[in-house]
Formats: sequence, structure tokens, C-alpha cells
Amino acid sequence: MPVRATKRGAARVPFGTGADADVLICGASFAGLTVARELRSAGARVLILDRYEIGERQTSACAAPTEWLRNLGLEDSIRQTFDSLLVHTPLVEKARWQLPFSFSTFDYRQLCELLWDQTGDAEFETAKVSTRTGQTVSTDRGDVSAPLIVDALGWRRVLGVGDNFQPPDGPLSRGLEVHPHGTGTDLELWIDPRYVDAGYGWAFPARDEVRIGVGSFDPHDPVKQPTLRLVEDSGQTPDGYQGNWIPHRIRPAVEDGVFFAGDSAGHCLPLTAEGIRTAFYFGIALGRELRAVLEGRQDKAAALRRYGAFSASHKWKFEAMYAAQQSIRHLHGRPLDKVTGFFTRPRVSNWAFQHYLEIAPPSFAVPAPAAAPVRATVEQAA
Ligand SMILES: Cc1cc2nc3c(=O)[nH]c(=O)nc-3n(C[C@H](O)[C@H](O)[C@H](O)COP(=O)(O)OP(=O)(O)OC[C@H]3O[C@@H](n4cnc5c(N)ncnc54)[C@H](O)[C@@H]3O)c2cc1C
Repeated sequence: MPVRATKRGAARVPFGTGADADVLICGASFAGLTVARELRSAGARVLILDRYEIGERQTSACAAPTEWLRNLGLEDSIRQTFDSLLVHTPLVEKARWQLPFSFSTFDYRQLCELLWDQTGDAEFETAKVSTRTGQTVSTDRGDVSAPLIVDALGWRRVLGVGDNFQPPDGPLSRGLEVHPHGTGTDLELWIDPRYVDAGYGWAFPARDEVRIGVGSFDPHDPVKQPTLRLVEDSGQTPDGYQGNWIPHRIRPAVEDGVFFAGDSAGHCLPLTAEGIRTAFYFGIALGRELRAVLEGRQDKAAALRRYGAFSASHKWKFEAMYAAQQSIRHLHGRPLDKVTGFFTRPRVSNWAFQHYLEIAPPSFAVPAPAAAPVRATVEQAA
């Protein structure tokens, strides 16, 4: 069982008065920390809330395009880098798809800490967020109000209007993985109904562990037994379960005066369930709009309008990938082999994956926001 480091009981004191902020960012993972990074040195009170300590609870297999990690200054968290995908189908034992860019697996805690280090004087508190009324967010430590509120809380979209998204009826995929100790040389994918009818299995090596899991595009389909089967077939033993729901349809990125980024806005790419770089990408876009508000270059209404339109302009790409995701369950036998074989041609895979990367290109991360002042250590501050 993971140890919950969050302050509890008497140590978990209510916020009391003075908790209010200029920007309240709910969720301290990929999206939330990236928004805060864009606001560094903006001269505003930026408060980040999460129910866990920063980096405490890994939320994914943690593979992302290497150039994204480099451009964000997160390369120290990289564990292993790959320039191809090894794909398995029932009839094709191994097909190698060359990539025009590389993916890297990284250490979640370290990456979150590196992002946090870049947020300058933002403040962080552990608190479980429950609801929102207007510009006030309720937590288990009391209420916090802010004129600018960001929901980066993941797939539930806690701060949205109406009921939260609920499986199995919401537009959600599901994923489960284990992290056995071990090594590997390839990013591997299994498109194979023996494991999952609509979805895929994966094995992502990260230096001294392999992240093995199965994702299903149908939230009704169980993923535990398929994951265990894939682990067994890979000659590993299950260790360290980690699973979650994954939104597979883009949602409005602004609603009722609140901004949404990452999984809360359905910013995870439907066919591949890749949601880290898109959380970075939309987090940066949102951070830039909020910074313009804090610096008096635009008002909140303009930020809502501009960020909402920016996210919506990507909708057709997400919907095209959703259509591909929904049709993949019909792709079996020879047609699946043909597609798999087709992608072994470098010209085909380079073309397809380059277009895929361009949905949220790493160049978007530069230029970096203004330099952060060095964060005072506890000793220096005392
Ligand atoms: C098994 C699995 C493997 C995956 N592998 C990959 C991968 O390799 N590469 C990739 O690109 N994508 C992957 N994804 C998708 C990716 O994890 C998500 O798209 C990504 O995490 C979204 O980032 P986010 O910041 O929006 O949300 P999250 O990373 O989910 O962060 C949400 C944050 O909000 C906090 N929170 C939630 N509710 C509350 C609350 N009520 N109060 C306070 N805090 C709260 C959480 O503690 C968390 O810190 C995977 C998903 C799964 C399930």
C-alpha cells in the first residue's frame, strides 16, 4: 500500500482567513504545475491545492516525447529513451515502427518536483477539493476564493457545472498497470484481443522497472485480468498496481467562469491515451492567458474567450482520433496485420507520427516564462 504523506488529523489545520488567492490552481500534476510554471514571477498570489503531496501519487506510465521534457527543463527526470515502437498483434509477432522523434519514460516524483521548482513563489497546500460555488472552492480544510480558478483535477472535472463524470457511463477509457522490477530495451505495444477487445497493452521500461498495463476504450471492460495475463506472458510478476480512468472526448475548456486544463478538459488524446504532453500544452496556453490578466494586458472575460477558443480549435483532431479509437475494435485478423505492416515502412510511420506530434508540438514550450527567483529554503526563510 502506498504511504499517504498528506497531513492528517490535528496536523491538517483549516485554512482560516487569508487563504484567498489571485489564482487558485486545483490539482498539482502535469496540467496544474504547468499552469503555475507559466505564472512564475507574475507578482500574484498563486495557490495550488492537491489532496496528495507534489509527486506523491503517480498517475500514469509516464512516457512523453523527449523534446517536450527537454524544452520544459525536465530532462533530469528521464529514465530511458526510445526511437521506435515494437508492436505485437496475434499474427505478427513483432513489427517495429520507427518514430521521427523519441519518447522517454521518466520518474513521476522527480518530474513534478522539477516543475514545482520552476513555479517561483507559488504556494502549495494539501487539501481535498469537493465543490465550487461561484468563485469559491470548498475543501476539507475550508473554503478558498479567487477571481481566477483552474480545474486541473483530472477526469472527474470536479469544478464543472452539474454532476462529475462517472464511469462506466461517462466518455472514459480505463487503464491499469503494474511496475515490476526489471529492465527492457523497447517501448512495446500489444494490439491483441487476447488481452483486450478495444484497446491495447503496453510495456514501458524505465531503467530499473517495467510499467506493464492494459487500457480499454470501453469503460465496461475489466482490465485487471488482462493486465495480469500480459504480465505473466512477459515473464514478470505483478507489483505496485496503479490505475485510473482516462477521458477520451474533449470537453469545453472554460465553463461558468472557471478554466479547465488536462484531463478535466478531456485533453487526453483518444486513440493513444497520451495525456501528459497535451496537459503540458494546454497548461502553457492557459498560463499565458492568465499571465496576461495578471499583468493587466487583458481582462478575465478575454482570457476565458481566448483560451476556450484555443482549446476548441483542436476539437476536430481529437474527434478524428476518437473516431479511429471507436473503429479499432473492428480491426482484427488480416486487416490489422496489413495496417501494422504498413506502419513498418519508415515513410509511413514518419509521416503519421509527425502529424500526431504536431497536435501538441514541443516547440510550444519555448520561450520559457520569465526566470523564477530562487526559492528560499526553510533554513533561509527562518
Ligand atoms: C494507467 C495509465 C497509464 C498512462 N500512461 C500514460 C503515458 O505513458 N503517457 C501519457 O502521455 N499519458 C498517459 N496516461 C494518461 C495521463 O496519465 C493523463 O492524461 C494525465 O495524467 C493528465 O494529467 P492531469 O494533470 O490533467 O491530471 P492528473 O495527472 O490525473 O492529476 C490530477 C491531480 O489532481 C489531484 N486530485 C484529483 N482529485 C482531487 C481532489 N478532489 N482534491 C484534490 N486533489 C485532487 C490528483 O491527486 C492529481 O495530482 C496514462 C493513464 C493511465 C490511467
